[in-house]
Amino acid sequence: MRVNAGFSRLFCLDGIWVRRVQFDADRVVVWIALRRRRLRCPLCEFSTPHRHNRQQVESVWRHLDLGVWRLELRAQLRRLECPEHGVRVEGVPFARHASGFTRDFEQLVAWLATRTDKTTITRMVRVDWDTVGRIIARVCADELDPDRLHNLFEIGIDEVSWRKQHRYLTLVADHIRGQIVWGVEGNSQAAADRFFKDLGKSRSHAVEVISLDMGPGYAKSAREHAPQAIIAIDPYHVVALGNRALDEVRRAYWNELRRAGDKTAARRFKDARWSLLKAPKNLSEKQAATLRRLKAAGGEVWRAYTLKEALRAIFQPSLTVEDVTVLIDRFISKAARSRLEPFVRLGQTIRKHRDGILHAIRLGINQGRTEALNNKVRLITRRAYGFHSANAALALVMLTCGPITLQPPHELHP
Ligand SMILES: [Zn+2]
Repeated sequence: MRVNAGFSRLFCLDGIWVRRVQFDADRVVVWIALRRRRLRCPLCEFSTPHRHNRQQVESVWRHLDLGVWRLELRAQLRRLECPEHGVRVEGVPFARHASGFTRDFEQLVAWLATRTDKTTITRMVRVDWDTVGRIIARVCADELDPDRLHNLFEIGIDEVSWRKQHRYLTLVADHIRGQIVWGVEGNSQAAADRFFKDLGKSRSHAVEVISLDMGPGYAKSAREHAPQAIIAIDPYHVVALGNRALDEVRRAYWNELRRAGDKTAARRFKDARWSLLKAPKNLSEKQAATLRRLKAAGGEVWRAYTLKEALRAIFQPSLTVEDVTVLIDRFISKAARSRLEPFVRLGQTIRKHRDGILHAIRLGINQGRTEALNNKVRLITRRAYGFHSANAALALVMLTCGPITLQPPHELHP
């Protein structure tokens, strides 16, 4: 077999033949040509036998590495005139529009991105993290099932931070399938409005339950676009607010100690943060000891801690709606009498959303799968923190938690 024919076979790329192979210092460069006569528009289905002209500069794609060698494909493509998109360089079957990588290469990167960390991927495939971001955004746009918004009956709308300085994504979960089915940059009412617009009026009116946080934006949008749906408050958010209130009390106390000049006590209190916020069963030996000291010391911080724990206990999965109702009302009155400003406010918030919280318990929104999906999303977005584009962060969420099953490239070539 001649070298060119050998390379043609090696690539497993449809519709090309190899014209020339060259070994450079750090890469193998392969010049290819398309087999097909007809020219295809890269943006639509249009095809034509007429070529407008040839491109001046060669197109270049990186393909899967060959051993330790980078592999580069080059081709001088033709240009066509599409009635809709004007004069364009013809599309190729083995790469996505405007990408400098083959589909196989992008498939590998996307598959790795859902499974491993930034350093591993960028070192192994030798591309930077933002390039990974652009690749997965393209793969996601391609692979996302357009029917995924059909048959949505129980959904959750939630925000997640994808970057420091309050940069958020709004995500919509399908509680029944346990998947994220939609997302957009931002966390305002407008973000939820866009979701309902994509969903369309009739499908919005078929939604039965929407679980939300306690902010006003999503709720307003939900009432407007899906007035028939029951609004449930995800207990996860209630517990999170309890943690936040406790942290406020701790911080105020810590500042007081610092101002009083008690430096060692102030440091101890700063370190106590995790002892206070973690669930008791997850504490390390040292954190548990810190917690015992805080208990012995008593005072505001300890009272805040017991309130936070009481709130968490309300949402134990074994409790009935009746139990939860009693416990919530007890918590509301305890919080009102606590003389701890953050908890007084928290009690008022919970009273305002009492019905929504009880709906969630009644409908079983609290149960395992929602929680698991939530945790998975948060774990993934932490990995997305290095991206500079919300689109990339969103793609990572959709590829890992959405209705997409990725395979490594060799499994796509039977
Ligand atoms: Zn076109």
